[in-house]
Amino acid sequence: MRILIAEDDEVLADGLCQAMTHSGYAVDCVKDGHAAKVILSGEQPFDLVILDVGLPKVDGFSVLRSLRESNRQVPVIILTARDAEGDRVKGLDLGADDYMIKPFSLPELEARVRALIRRGQCGVNPVYSCGMLTFDSVGRRAAINGTTLELTTREMSVLEALMLRTGWVVSKEQLLERLYSYAEEASSNAIEVYIHRLRKKIEPAGVTIRTIRGLGYVIDNMPAQSS
Ligand code: CA
Repeated sequence: MRILIAEDDEVLADGLCQAMTHSGYAVDCVKDGHAAKVILSGEQPFDLVILDVGLPKVDGFSVLRSLRESNRQVPVIILTARDAEGDRVKGLDLGADDYMIKPFSLPELEARVRALIRRGQCGVNPVYSCGMLTFDSVGRRAAINGTTLELTTREMSVLEALMLRTGWVVSKEQLLERLYSYAEEASSNAIEVYIHRLRKKIEPAGVTIRTIRGLGYVIDNMPAQSS
C-alpha cells in the first residue's frame, strides 16, 4: 500500500510520514503542490493521498482538480484549517473522499485511512499470492494454505514490499526506505536479518527470497527439485 502525503508544514509532515510508515505503508512525502502534481501524474500508482489544501506553488484544490480531471480515482483525504468550512465543501465538491480539520488526532486519521483503503479495495482482490503463500494487504495478514504466519511489523513490511512485486527485484534501498523513517538509523544488516527470518517462515509454502547480488531481493517459487 502506497500513500502520498502532500504537506508543507515540516513538523506535521514528518509526524504523518513516521506514523504511516510505522503502520506499514510505503510513504512518499512532497512539500508543495507542483511536486504533488508531478508525482501523481507519474507511473507509480498510489493507494491513498493525504492532501493539505494550503500548499505552496500550486494549492491543494488545483492538485485535486487535475487528479480528478485525469480520471484518477485514488482516495483523497484533504487537510483543512479549523475555520475554513468553505474549503471543506469545495474539497468534497472537487472529489475529495474525506477531510480532517487541523489540528487532528493521528489515530483518527489512521482509522480514516484504513476505512478508505478498505473501500477502495471493494471488488478488487487485495490478496497477493506466490505459490501457497498469500498476503492480504488490507487485513495485513500473511498465510500459508490459510494458516496465518506469525510475523513482526517489520517482517510484514518486507514481505509486503516483495509480494507486491512478485518475480521482480526489490532493492535493499527500497526496503530500507519502507522500513525506516529519516529519524531512525537505517541498517542494511537489519534487512538481511529480516530476509533470513522470512525465508525460514515462508519455506513451507514452497516460496523463497532470492538474493540478486548488487541489485536486491526477489520473492519467487522455489525451483523444482531435480530428482
Ligand atoms: Ca499548508
